[in-house]
Amino acid sequence: MQIINGKDTSNKVKEEIKLEADKLIKLGKTPALAVILVGNDKASATYVSSKEKACNLCNIKSIMYRLPEDTTQDYLLSLIDDLNKDDSVDGILVQLPLPKQIDSTKILEKISPDKDVDGFNAVNVGKLSLGLDCFIPCTPKGIMRLLDEYKIDVSGKNVCVIGRSNIVGKPIANLMINSNATVTITHSKTKNLSSITKQADIIVVAIGKAKFLKADMIKDKAVVIDVGINRLDDGSLVGDVDFENVANKCEFITPVPGGVGPMTIAMLLENTIKSAKLRK
Ligand code: NAD
Repeated sequence: MQIINGKDTSNKVKEEIKLEADKLIKLGKTPALAVILVGNDKASATYVSSKEKACNLCNIKSIMYRLPEDTTQDYLLSLIDDLNKDDSVDGILVQLPLPKQIDSTKILEKISPDKDVDGFNAVNVGKLSLGLDCFIPCTPKGIMRLLDEYKIDVSGKNVCVIGRSNIVGKPIANLMINSNATVTITHSKTKNLSSITKQADIIVVAIGKAKFLKADMIKDKAVVIDVGINRLDDGSLVGDVDFENVANKCEFITPVPGGVGPMTIAMLLENTIKSAKLRK
């Protein structure tokens, strides 16, 4: 069994990004990412701070908007409109979830597709499903980069994706199909999940249920990618995989923390650089 080290890989990617950012800065284009956080969600605040820190580390300018919980939808739409028009801004990220008075679909659709570094706008979602060049959502993009880094070929493999969210499950399924995998997407209404996971060469779990995937649900030598982030009562973080038991049975596995998570931020920076280069 080999542990897929997302921290090391993300550090390597960040070094490459910093070099790219420095090249752009020399050419007079400072890459810039606008990050909007609305409200007081603690986890969101932590994610946003990590993104800000990573930008600083890689010489990408981060423009932070920390807005109050009662921010109106109209205000947020007009802020995004301004950022869409501002040529010094390369990427716009609205941290989800948003407070209930704001319709997140309307917000994501407002972000200009060419600054949509999260890849959540319908234009980028459509392009991804067509296999066209686009901004790929950061977590699935990070997973593909990790597989590539560890020379895990997905072509012709049976892949089981557990979870059908728009930010992980659906886009990773599309990326896998585009890379010639045979993909089964499963979710909370799937019957007899084990019979599907046991057939899979590669399993991607993104459901948000601590230690859900057990050793008896996978076949020997499977590759297990754990996207879940779950905080236990004792304050520790665990994934959606019962790591201690599953690790013994599989060929490769991502830990939590230190697996997929760090790659998500690295891919956000990479998307911002991509946007800055296109704008330059
Ligand atoms: P979500 O929370 O929007 O949806 C959960 C999905 O899991 C749904 O599609 C649901 O059908 C499925 N599901 C729930 N119970 C199930 C069950 N018993 N069997 C099969 N499927 C089931 O999904 P999300 O936003 O992709 O988040 C999933 C997890 O991934 C969360 O823990 C989240 O924190 C984490 N996450 C991590 C990163 C990262 O960077 N590491 C990024 C995004 C999400």
